[in-house]
Amino acid sequence: MNSEEFRKRGKEMVDYIADYLDTIEDRRVTPAIEPGYLKHLVPLEAPQHPEDWDIIMKDVENKIMPGVTHWQHPRFHAYFPSGNSYPSILGDMLSDGIGCIGFSWAASPACTELETIVLDWLGKMVGLPEDFLSFSENSKGGGVIQGSASECVLVSLLAARAHTIHQLKKQHPFVEEGVLLSKMMAYCSKEAHSCVEKAAMMAFVKLRILEPDENQSLRGSTLQQVMEEDRASGLVPFYVETTLGTTSCCSFDNLAEIGPVCEEFGVWLHVDGAYGGNSFICPELRGPMKGIEYASSFNFNPNKFMLTNFDCSLMWVKDRFRLTQALVVDPLYLQHSYSEKSIDYRHWGIPLSRRFRALKLWFVIRSFGVEGLQNYIREHCRLARKFETLVRKERRFELASPVNLGLVCFRLRGSDQLNQKLLSSINASGKLHMVPASLNDKYVIRFCVCRQTATDEDIEYAWNVITDFATDIQDEIEKIQIEETIENEEELEKKEEKNLEITDDVLQMLEEKSKKSLRYKRSFFVRMVSDPKIYNPKIVRSLPSTSKRRHTTSETTEEENLSVNSPTIDHDNLAKMLQQTNLKEFFSKVEAKYKFINKTTSDLSDRLLASAFLNNVRREEELIQ
Ligand code: PLP
Repeated sequence: MNSEEFRKRGKEMVDYIADYLDTIEDRRVTPAIEPGYLKHLVPLEAPQHPEDWDIIMKDVENKIMPGVTHWQHPRFHAYFPSGNSYPSILGDMLSDGIGCIGFSWAASPACTELETIVLDWLGKMVGLPEDFLSFSENSKGGGVIQGSASECVLVSLLAARAHTIHQLKKQHPFVEEGVLLSKMMAYCSKEAHSCVEKAAMMAFVKLRILEPDENQSLRGSTLQQVMEEDRASGLVPFYVETTLGTTSCCSFDNLAEIGPVCEEFGVWLHVDGAYGGNSFICPELRGPMKGIEYASSFNFNPNKFMLTNFDCSLMWVKDRFRLTQALVVDPLYLQHSYSEKSIDYRHWGIPLSRRFRALKLWFVIRSFGVEGLQNYIREHCRLARKFETLVRKERRFELASPVNLGLVCFRLRGSDQLNQKLLSSINASGKLHMVPASLNDKYVIRFCVCRQTATDEDIEYAWNVITDFATDIQDEIEKIQIEETIENEEELEKKEEKNLEITDDVLQMLEEKSKKSLRYKRSFFVRMVSDPKIYNPKIVRSLPSTSKRRHTTSETTEEENLSVNSPTIDHDNLAKMLQQTNLKEFFSKVEAKYKFINKTTSDLSDRLLASAFLNNVRREEELIQ
């Protein structure tokens, strides 16, 4: 491709991108393909000879686009926004065109210098203290563009680790670094991004993951307690990671409480504001930044919430020498005569090679102005609040956490399975795309306002899709429940018939047994009135206090033996008592009691016993009457 053709194809590409973004709504937000779809469409060997550009572009549309998840789609509400805007795309295009590798000042001075300036702009835009800026007086701080928030976290952890080992080595010069490392402890909240765990894994340090409060915010007292515990047991707290805008629900750790604890323990405090940090360009949203003056480092990603394309994660440190001491290697071929006077960003991160990423950021800030970027963030917050209002209005739904910035976590009242079913049905339909999170051990659905130009209609559309699916699922569940109830009833009837058979068998047995002695049958009533658990207190009160015991004789019959344990009865008194007692009422109460037991107990043997007693009560009643 020569420059002539590049002009032609470049213009076509710009048209293709503009058309793609203009008509993105006509596509399904998520692809309807299976893993491995592409290997059936694209040859597994590279072409030996040049191919025609038109054919390549046709393949983009026919083979690549069907497998793309459209993050800029108005129905995309998953994760966090993927920053995108025309100025940013053009900035990246220019960066690619220039194609420089800015690892040192000398390798491409503008690349380094623009980065330093733009990072100072942004530091001021979000209200960072002066000591994080490169150009403030006597500052040791400064900002750098990293590839991702994960890199910022790792790099800050490595810097904290190097500094702590250095300090410990001064105290224990003869102890191996590996031994010192084994004592070092890092901390973060359960809600911190998994990149913290990954960083600790890579840095080979211990990490304590702490429980946040009910609003998913890590509190100073929690941190203080565990750090004291650890210190008392010989460990060395050295690094705390906090998050302003957590991934699950955009909660904010309590920096104002955590900061002084970190200062007391002399540990590195890193603040990850990957998404939330962008919002601090709006002064009214800076509340969670209270305590930022205690931080050693801070990062946020304009490629999430500031209309800048990936990759662009900004990191500031208060002491750049502490950062670079962990990462400096200086081979001759990278040295230059201005090393003392300039910044070499290769010492601030992991890779040597660096793209000219400051360009797109510079384009974005200048094209939108601070005001334009603030309006964009405020609009996303407004739309999230609109969605929140819709959730609050529907009693079937509940909010799962306080709503912060552009993220709403909600759920259908009911089980996790119900919510899983709701989300998977919606996602499978391709009408909307959202992802879940786990909050307070509950499955919740995250709804994030993502599209650059999201509108009220987008929010209403999304809510209609969600509620329609919820209705369908609830109707389906109700239908299944009715069918199950009918089936259960039929089964219950069958079971009851079976039980009745069993009951009849048992009763028959009992009857045969009871037939053995009329005396036994009659004594049933007597036994009842002598059993404090079931008798009517009125009756017992009127029972004779002294009773003559009947003696059994040697001629005692089997029938008599059966009643041997029955109390001896003063028949005159009993007759009197029976006259005074409303037997009808008594029997109906006893009957009701057994009926109740029979109905409420699920234990078959209890039910059988209750049925047997009930039958006996009825027979006893007949006999007495
Ligand atoms: N930190 C937070 C709070 C995040 O939400 C994310 C990703 O969403 C990350 C870190 C990781 O970001 P990156 O992909 O830039 O490494």
